[in-house]
Amino acid sequence: MIEQNALCKVGEHLDEIVIRPCVFQERNERLFYKLLIDNVEELLPVVYTPTVGEACQKYGSIFRRPQGLYVSLKDKGKVLDVLRNWPERNIQVIVVTDGERILGLGDLGCQGMGIPVGKLSLYTALGGVRPSACLPITIDVGTNNKQLLNDEFYIGLRQRRATGKEYHELMDEFMSAAKQIYGEKVLIQFEDFANHNAFDLLAKYSKSHLVFNDDIQGTASVVLAGLLSSLKVVGGTLAEHTYLFLGAGEAGTGIAELIALEISKQTKAPLEECRKKVWLVDSKGLIVSSRKDSLQPFKKPWAHEHEPVTSLLDAVQSIKPTVLIGTSGVGKTFTKDVVEAMASFNERPVIFSLSNPTSHSECTAEEAYNWSQGRAVFASGSPFDPVEYNGKIHVPGQSNNAYIFPGFGLGVVISGAIRVHEDMLLAAAEALADQATQENFDKGSIFPPFANIRKISARIAASVAAKAYELGLATRLPQPKDLEKYAESCMYTPVYRSYR
Ligand code: NAP
Ligand code: MN
Repeated sequence: MIEQNALCKVGEHLDEIVIRPCVFQERNERLFYKLLIDNVEELLPVVYTPTVGEACQKYGSIFRRPQGLYVSLKDKGKVLDVLRNWPERNIQVIVVTDGERILGLGDLGCQGMGIPVGKLSLYTALGGVRPSACLPITIDVGTNNKQLLNDEFYIGLRQRRATGKEYHELMDEFMSAAKQIYGEKVLIQFEDFANHNAFDLLAKYSKSHLVFNDDIQGTASVVLAGLLSSLKVVGGTLAEHTYLFLGAGEAGTGIAELIALEISKQTKAPLEECRKKVWLVDSKGLIVSSRKDSLQPFKKPWAHEHEPVTSLLDAVQSIKPTVLIGTSGVGKTFTKDVVEAMASFNERPVIFSLSNPTSHSECTAEEAYNWSQGRAVFASGSPFDPVEYNGKIHVPGQSNNAYIFPGFGLGVVISGAIRVHEDMLLAAAEALADQATQENFDKGSIFPPFANIRKISARIAASVAAKAYELGLATRLPQPKDLEKYAESCMYTPVYRSYR
C-alpha cells in the first residue's frame, strides 16, 4: 500500500514530472497516477494543456523512448499486424490523432503523439480506465509543416500529407483492424484531426464503430454544461439567450449544434428554428446566407439571414449576443472593445475563451474581468490563476473537455455501449452541470473544482451509462442497480496489491 503522505507529496517529484512526465510515467506508473490523482489541480497543466502543447512542439528534440503506437502509410496492407505488436490485447479506449490540428498549434505531424498519450493519462487518472486498457495511436500520413520536414530530429515520415483516396484507405484499414482485434466495444476517440477530415470521419464511422470526436462532441458537452450552470448565475433559459462564436470549426459548430439540440428538446421547437439563436464568425466574418454556396458543409446550417459583417466587433454590436464563445485558435481576439461592448448591453456577459494552449486564448481571465468591471461570467480552455478585481477574488472555471471525456468513456465502457448517441452527450453535460454548486458560483466558477474529478467522472459515467441502457445501446446485462456505485467500483486506483 502506498503510504499516502510519505511518497506522494507533489514537491518531492515535481521537478521530474515537469521536466520529464513521460519518463516518470514509465518508471513507476502506479506512483505517477497516485501523484496525478492526489494533486490533479496542480498537475493537470503539466500532463495536459498548456504543457502538452509545448511538449508536442519539441517532441522530436526531447524524444527518448517511444510511447504509443504509430501507424504509418508504409504500414498499408499490414495494419492488423502492426496493432498485434502492441503487448496488450484487452484494449477499452483508443485515442487516435493524425496530428494535423494539435490544440491551436496546427500541423505537428507525428509529434502530435503527446496528445493521445496525455488524453489517455487523463482517462486513467480522471476516469479510472485501467492504464493497460488504453492505447494511444498516431496515424502518420506525413506533415505539411515545413519546419518539421526540415528538422533533423523530426520523427515521422518526411513527406507532405497524403490526402484523398490514399488517406482514406489507410484510415479504413486502421478502423477495420481496430475492430477486428479489439472487438465491437472498443471506444475510438478521434482527437485533433483537421476539420476537413474530422466531420467526415465521425459521420462515416459512427454508423459502424463506437467512435467519439472529443473536439466536436466532448467540447460541446462541457460547454453546454458550462452554459447550463451559467444560467443559474445570469438567469433565463437556454432559448432566451443569443450565442455568438468566434471560430466555426470543430469546436464552434460542435458546441453550436449541441446548444440547438438542447434548446429543441427543452422547447419542442424544430432544430432548424433553434439554430437561429446561434451565430458564428469564421476567418471571413459572420456566417450569413449570402455566403452559403462557398461554405464548408458543417457551416451551412449556421448561415442565417443577415447582411455581411467582417469584424467580430461589428458582429457583436449587430447581433448583441448574451454569450460570446471563442473557438478560433487565435489568441487576443477578444479585444478590450469586444469585451466592453459585451459588458455594455449585458449585466452579466458570458464570455468563454476556449482556445488552447494559453497563448491562444481569445482573452485572459484578467482581461475579461477588468474590461467588464468584474461582471463577466468567464471560463477558459486552458487554466488561469484567480484574479482580484475591486477586492473580490474571481476563480475562473476551466471549460475543457477533460471534464467530460474521462467520465463519458467510463460510462461507455461500463455499460458495454456499442454506439455513441447524441443524447449521451446531453446526459454527460447535465450530469456535469448538476455538480456545480452555489459555492462554486460565488467564487466565480461555473464548474465544480477539478480536485473532485473522480467523483464527477463517476456521476457522468453513471448518467451516460443510464442513457445507453435507456436507448438500448448497452450490452452489459443485467443493468447494475446503482450505476454510480458500479462506476466507482470499476475505477482503477493506483494502490499496490497486498501479498499478505
Ligand atoms: P478548427 O476546426 O480548425 O476551427 C477553427 C475556426 O476558427 C475556423 O472556423 C477558422 O475559420 C476560425 N478562425 C481562424 N482564425 C480566425 C480569425 N482570425 N478570426 C476568426 N475566425 C478564425 O479548430 P477547432 O477544432 O474548432 O479548435 C479551435 C480551438 O479550440 C483550438 O485552439 C483548440 O485548442 C480549441 N479547443 C478547445 C477545447 C476545450 O476543451 N476548451 C476543445 C477543442 C478545441 P475558417 O473556417 O474560415 O478557416
Ligand atoms: Mn483536442
